[in-house]
Parts: sequence; C-alpha cells; structure tokens
Amino acid sequence: MQRVAIIGAGPAGLTAAYELLKQARDEFAVDVLEADPVHVGGIAWTGEFRGCRFDIGGHRFFSKSEEIEALWTELLGDELITRPRLSRILYDGTFFDYPLKPANALIGLGPRTAVRVLASYARARAFPIDPEVSFADWITNRFGRHLFTIFFKGYTEKVWGMSCDDISADWAAQRIKGLSLAGTVKDALLPRRPGDGAVIKTLIDEFRYPRRGPGQMWEAARDRVQEWGGRVHLGHRVDAVRWQGPLTVEAGGESFETDCLISSMALADLAQILDPAPPPEVLEAARGLAYRDFLTVVLRVQQRDLFPDNWIYIHDPSVRVGRLQNFKNWSPDMVVDPAMTGIGMEYFCSVGDDLWSLDDAALVELGRSELDRLGLAPAAAVLDGTVVRAPKAYPVYDDAYQGRVEIIRRWLAAELPAVQTVGRNGMHKYNNQDHSMMTALLAARNLMGASYDVWAVNTDAEYHERGTPTTVD
Ligand SMILES: Cc1cc2nc3c(=O)[nH]c(=O)nc-3n(C[C@H](O)[C@H](O)[C@H](O)COP(=O)(O)OP(=O)(O)OC[C@H]3O[C@@H](n4cnc5c(N)ncnc54)[C@H](O)[C@@H]3O)c2cc1C
Repeated sequence: MQRVAIIGAGPAGLTAAYELLKQARDEFAVDVLEADPVHVGGIAWTGEFRGCRFDIGGHRFFSKSEEIEALWTELLGDELITRPRLSRILYDGTFFDYPLKPANALIGLGPRTAVRVLASYARARAFPIDPEVSFADWITNRFGRHLFTIFFKGYTEKVWGMSCDDISADWAAQRIKGLSLAGTVKDALLPRRPGDGAVIKTLIDEFRYPRRGPGQMWEAARDRVQEWGGRVHLGHRVDAVRWQGPLTVEAGGESFETDCLISSMALADLAQILDPAPPPEVLEAARGLAYRDFLTVVLRVQQRDLFPDNWIYIHDPSVRVGRLQNFKNWSPDMVVDPAMTGIGMEYFCSVGDDLWSLDDAALVELGRSELDRLGLAPAAAVLDGTVVRAPKAYPVYDDAYQGRVEIIRRWLAAELPAVQTVGRNGMHKYNNQDHSMMTALLAARNLMGASYDVWAVNTDAEYHERGTPTTVD
C-alpha cells in the first residue's frame, strides 16, 4: 500500500482523496488532514445560524469541464439543483444589470454621463495606454476612463484594498479575457454563435447549487472517502512537514509518515513549515505572497421577500459592504422558515485592519445599518446576526507574485518530488472549485502512474462572465 497524506479537506483535498480511492482503493492508504475542527469544504463550506444557512461568497457550480460536472452529479445527484441567476449592481441608488448591458447602463446613467462615457471610450480607442501594466490600464483601454471609474474602480478597490494602478494587468487578462465595450455591445446586438452562445448563456442565466449549500457537496465527498476506507482527520492543522529521512507530516499532535503528500494548504504556509527550512530565497518568496481576506456578516431578516437577486454588487463608496447575498434565492432550503430571509453582507478586508478587528456585535450593527441605508431592508426587520471571518480568501496577483510562486515551485519540484501542491491557495492561483478540483484529479492520477503537469491547468475564465463589468466572485 502506498501511503498518501493530503493536507486540507476543501474541494481540492477531498477530490484528490476521492479519486485515489475510487480508482485504486487497494493500492492507497489515504489520510486527509484538516485544520477545521468541525467542517469540511474549505472556503466552500456551509454554515448555519438559527435556521439560516449561509455560504462564504455564494458558490456557483459550473464548469466547462464535463468531467467535473459529471463528478458533481455523481456526488449529489438530484440534490444538486439548477437555479436561475439574477445579480445586479447597485450604484448611486440605481440598479444596473450584471453582466453589464450597454443600453441598460447608458439609460441608467442618464444622457449627460452617457455622452461622457462614449467620449472617453473614443479617446481610449484613439490613444490606448501602451504598455498595459496595471488593471486600470487594461480596463481603460477596453472601456474608456469614465466607465472604468463608474463600474470597475470603486468595487475593485473595495475588493483588493489597493489602487487599481497597483493591480497587475495579468489579473484582468486572466479573469475577464476577451472583454471590451465593443465586444459587450456586439454581444448585446448580435445573436451568439450556436454552440458557444449556449454555454455562455447557460452560465450567465442559471447555475447549479447544492440544495443545502456547497458544504453539502463536500460532506458527500467526505462520506464517500470514509466509506472507501480513507481517514478524514478534523482538527488536525499541519504544523510541520519533515522531509529529510522519511517524509512525515505533523498534525494535531500526531505524526503521519507518508510516501507522498498532496497539499492544498496555502503555498506560502507550506514553504514556511518545512523542516528543515528551505533556502532563504524560497522563504523570502513565501513571505512575500499576499492574500486578501474576507468576512461575512450574516443577518436574519424577518421578511419573506427582500429582493429577487442571488447577489448584488455594491459600488457605492459611502458604505463599506462590497456585495450582498440573499441565500434563499440560491436555494429555498437555505432557510428553515420561508417567512425569514438570510442575508450575507460581504466585506473585503485584511487580517488586522479596522474591519477585521471590529468585534462581532459592532460588525452586525454595521451590517444592519448599511442594509437599511442602501434601502434594501429596514434596520428594525433585522433580528440578529453572526460573523464569519475567512482569512486568505483571495490570492493576490501583484507585480511580484508570479516570480515568487515560480521560485517555490521550482525548489519543491527539485527537492521534494514526493510533494504535489493543488487547489487555489495551494498553487496561489485564482481558481474556482472546478480548476481546484482538476489540479487535484491530476495530482491523484500522477500517483497512479500518469505524468501530468498540474501547474498547466489553466484558470482561463473567459466563459466565466462575458460582458461583465466587475470581476470578482
Ligand atoms: C468569496 C468567494 C466566492 C467564491 N465563489 C465561487 C463560485 O461561485 N464558484 C466556484 O466554483 N468557486 C468559487 N470560489 C472559489 C472556491 O472557494 C475555491 O476554488 C475552492 O474552495 C478552493 O478549494 P481548495 O480545496 O483549493 O481550497 P480551500 O477551499 O481553501 O480549502 C483548503 C482547506 O485546507 C485547510 N488547511 C489550510 N491550512 C491547513 C493546515 N496547515 N493544516 C490542515 N489543513 C489546512 C483549510 O482549513 C481548508 O479546509 C469562491 C471563493 C471565494 C473566496
């Protein structure tokens, strides 16, 4: 039997365990080591507060990969429901379609602003910024400065907590490849090509979602892994990986000697718990990788129907909230009592900053007052709430990240060939569940004799949100 230790019981870690045991359970002894004492699912777990279930961010299940779609169906069957999607932008008291529709945007902005938008677009086309270094350059070249300011700048800066001038153009190119104002207008006016259009339309208009939230998918995966003899150890935070002599993972006060390791913990953290420590340049690269953190204020509102959207982007700079989820619009089963509504007020922040450090009661108060101020629900209708903090929600793509990842990746490949890193933070890639899972499938298959380059799984998300004015999920 080959011993495999897997760090993390999120989508990537559980997919790796599932694949190994599904294909070759006589050959592999699998231990999944998860820091969380209670939940599986990583960022895609589902919580519950007094009859209101919530999801960290709202996880749509969609993929261009038929294999991943089939795997989700295999795990949940009819419990994976198809849901209509509605999401809009709230800017200056007006709702705008999301993805952006040119006519709707121009009408909503009024004639004066519309003329300024078109003039600034014409200017950007005539005199494009060259080279495109930053996110601001990339968007301005495709939409014009004015539209950038209205529909990209405020929200993006809330999300990343930094100026759009300091965010790499790579990030925009990866997340919203193929997008431009001209393309958006063309999409709105011309019929789509049959095959491509069907996929895009489907992804935009509907998505799949587990009836009781994304955690249900990962609880099902955990159950199957355990039925097949795999062990899932909760409350086992990995705090050391010893790699000279037998490869040994230390977690929850136990030592797990292993033949190979699949790690979905943050790449930066993995490099820093290696024992012996890697060379200084690898440690320095690891310490330099940055993340954006996230917290959700979950509010129970005593009202049946607040608004029809699954989620709303809040561009208004006068409130701190960045996005709002209405979980019962994701699945009616997200609330026990249909007369109630569970709202997730999403705040992008950094560990230790003013928002992160506010106590829970103050955050619930902030959420309640901002919901009221936005005109979405009166403060008096909010019964109570809770707060969930999610550190390292987003790997940051700054100017230096690629070089840093490359230093760590090369060193690991040369010195620790028995270790494969997978998933979102595991590879410092802005992966959705599907790509995180695909890296895990390939890593598992490598242990069965294949030789895939796990790093080649790309996060090309062109199909993700064509015609999209904002770019973060
Ligand atoms: C706000 C938001 C919205 C999103 N929306 C979508 C969406 O709509 N659709 C979609 O498909 N994807 C979405 N995603 C992305 C999705 O959450 C990730 O792709 C997915 O969760 C990544 O899976 P993973 O297993 O790689 O990592 P994670 O989910 O981060 O899981 C890693 C696991 O490792 C554990 N761990 C970490 N360190 C240690 C340690 N030292 N020892 C032991 N365990 C450890 C963690 O506790 C965690 O359980 C969204 C993400 C965010 C932040």
